Amino acid sequence: AKEAGRARFEIFVPRLGDRRRRRVAIEQALRGALSRSEMHLHWQPRVDVSRWEVVGAEVLLRWQHPELGRINPDEFIGIAEDAGLIAEIGLWVLQRACAHAVQMPPHLLVSVNVSPAQLQREDFAALALRAIERSGLPPQRLELEVTESLFMDETSAQALANLHALRNVGVRIALDDFGTGYSSLAYLRRFPFDTLKIDRAFVRELMTRHDARAIVRTILELAKTLGMETIAEGVEEPAQLDVLREAGCGSIQGFMVARPMPRGDFLRLMKNWTTP
Ligand code: C2E
Ligand code: CA
Ligand code: CA
Ligand code: CA
Repeated sequence: AKEAGRARFEIFVPRLGDRRRRRVAIEQALRGALSRSEMHLHWQPRVDVSRWEVVGAEVLLRWQHPELGRINPDEFIGIAEDAGLIAEIGLWVLQRACAHAVQMPPHLLVSVNVSPAQLQREDFAALALRAIERSGLPPQRLELEVTESLFMDETSAQALANLHALRNVGVRIALDDFGTGYSSLAYLRRFPFDTLKIDRAFVRELMTRHDARAIVRTILELAKTLGMETIAEGVEEPAQLDVLREAGCGSIQGFMVARPMPRGDFLRLMKNWTTP
């Protein structure tokens, strides 16, 4: 067993090395990615379940590097956080999102992902407020999506202070990826979130697993009791929508409606939207 362990270790080392090299390459490429205009935003519609209207969109960051190609945010966001680059990138996302949202129909809500590393900074609320003011977007039209990992460490007091400051001027705060962490329920008592966003992991299993269905029903009921709005992400099939509708889910987002797309396509989608 010892030998086998060593053999496996020797095979594993070069792969780890490759991963590390890629990380370093990505980190280097990230520096200056904004100034070289390699990043842009995609918009994914959010649809109200009962009225079947586009009520908002989530803004998702895209990065196309000339040599490395397209890199997924799931890969580069974490590297940007570790390299201390997320504050600059995140602020850029917020500025662009607000500037573009102002030009969209006035009922539209724009949702922007905010990383815990951004929230922990003392100046986050002030920088975000300035970006919102400069854009002219009414703060009520902006929703920040945060994950429960913001509660994880000793800097959570700063993160919560930032969130309170923004919420006090009308910015909406959503708890993203709900249900995927360890004690999601406890966190609901620590901040008055406006919206609960049910993670794709539950939606994916909605048709195949009784427990996933029970959990989603319970989350939706709880949100209703607490006066929170709800959105389910990753809805790909009408059958999933049916279950969510029956369970009282407020809005959905997913490939069933549309994939994240460039702003021009999103504007066209809204223009051609028809309610059944
Ligand atoms: P997230 O916040 O959970 O975003 C939802 C992800 O699910 C997006 O992946 C979206 O493209 C994908 N998605 C939406 N509908 C469907 C569906 O029906 N089926 C499937 N299979 N996937 C669907 P994406 O764009 O690759 O982003 C991944 C993650 O990267 C996001 O997860 C978010 O955590 C992070 N991210 C993206 N943009 C930003 C950003 O501007 N700032 C920060 N801090 N994080 C970001
Ligand atoms: Ca999100
Ligand atoms: Ca998610
Ligand atoms: Ca996420």
